[in-house]
Amino acid sequence: MIELDERLTRLQGQAREWAAEMRPHALAVDEDPERVSEIVDLPGLSRVAALQIPPEYNPDPLLVGGEKYYLMSALERVVFFEEGAWGDLGIMLASPGGPMSGIAVDALGSDAQKEWFFGRLLERPTWTFFALTEPERGSDATNMTTRLDRAENSEALLLNGAKRYVGNSVRAELGVVFARTGPGPLGLGAVLVERSAPGFSVEPVPTLGVRGAQLGAITLDGVRVAPDEVLGSHLPPTRRGMWAWLRTFNLLRPAVATMGVGVARAAYEYVGEHRGGLRAGERWRLERMGERIETVRQLVRKAAIAVDHNPADGHLASAAKRSAARLAEEVTLEALDFFGPGARLDHPPLEKLARDARAVEYMEGTSNIQRLGIFGGVVRNGFAPGGAVSGDGGT
Ligand SMILES: Cc1cc2nc3c(=O)[nH]c(=O)nc-3n(C[C@H](O)[C@H](O)[C@H](O)COP(=O)(O)OP(=O)(O)OC[C@H]3O[C@@H](n4cnc5c(N)ncnc54)[C@H](O)[C@@H]3O)c2cc1C
Repeated sequence: MIELDERLTRLQGQAREWAAEMRPHALAVDEDPERVSEIVDLPGLSRVAALQIPPEYNPDPLLVGGEKYYLMSALERVVFFEEGAWGDLGIMLASPGGPMSGIAVDALGSDAQKEWFFGRLLERPTWTFFALTEPERGSDATNMTTRLDRAENSEALLLNGAKRYVGNSVRAELGVVFARTGPGPLGLGAVLVERSAPGFSVEPVPTLGVRGAQLGAITLDGVRVAPDEVLGSHLPPTRRGMWAWLRTFNLLRPAVATMGVGVARAAYEYVGEHRGGLRAGERWRLERMGERIETVRQLVRKAAIAVDHNPADGHLASAAKRSAARLAEEVTLEALDFFGPGARLDHPPLEKLARDARAVEYMEGTSNIQRLGIFGGVVRNGFAPGGAVSGDGGT
């Protein structure tokens, strides 16, 4: 059982307070994602925008009870973002800052690039994007077709291709784009791109869930990339593209998993608060839901500790993500079941939770892809007692 120490309990308390302030806006942002601009001053968005920045670039960390928090460890993130997702996943994902792009820049950027990128995030709440998925290459991202080629008679490089389902890209000012620089796994690279660059365009992609995140489809039509916008040039080829995104995803995966826990908890609490007169069998079902949530929460925390220890090994995080995606989907649907056939019409917050839960399945790799990750971990590490494959939480 992983209990939170005093420091993490304080962080959790702060996150819960901010998440509660987001909740009243959940349905309005779901109806019109543009309305995020009206609530961007809430600390759950504006303060979070200046976190997840490495200490050496962040003079303004979160201070709670005299302690500093940078949200740079996976464990801090899972504690913090469970509360955010409980508040509202759509709004949480609409937060400015560099939750994904920042990890890539931290892994791949030179000192000058990090100073520039994180400096931009600290100037004012700034949205960023992390553009990896392509229209025909979601799970199969290593076979991406977006290309970064040298322009004729010039030092500059040209970016051509298309990306899809990219969170916040509709409102972002800058971000990271992954592209092919040559054949094979080493021929993958990442570049910094400003939205204002000629040849860059983005269209919203309508979604059923997490509508606040405003996913976008990006077209890259000869976008010029200066040599100092290419990430990882100072690193050996083995440490660029593929290495960076596997590490980024390993570090992020527990944070996505914790979103599933937060959404499930919100649905579970909704039943407790709004469904009176539970019969014995229903009380048992509700208790069982609560127990499942706690079991998956424990797995998520364990996975966060594991990737903090070794960011190169994400198989426990894969197990946590898979379990949490299933948890969110099943608990939200079961919660609706407590309110009878008209539940989706009569309980809009719960109906929204059931739609948002589906996003957890797709973000950062589907359950089938996580299964491949778990299998890889088992092959490498064997069946460790209490390890990844046994800590499934009965989901
Ligand atoms: C809310 C949200 C936010 C997102 N944010 C971003 C973002 O910021 N940046 C970004 O780049 N992308 C983002 N994505 C995209 C996300 O990463 C992709 O949706 C995901 O990788 C799956 O790709 P796909 O949708 O093309 O599905 P596909 O890859 O086409 O998968 C469809 C189905 O086929 C299965 N499948 C695919 N390959 C295999 C296989 N080898 N073995 C077994 N089954 C397989 C999958 O499990 C799935 O069930 C986001 C998605 C969502 C929903």
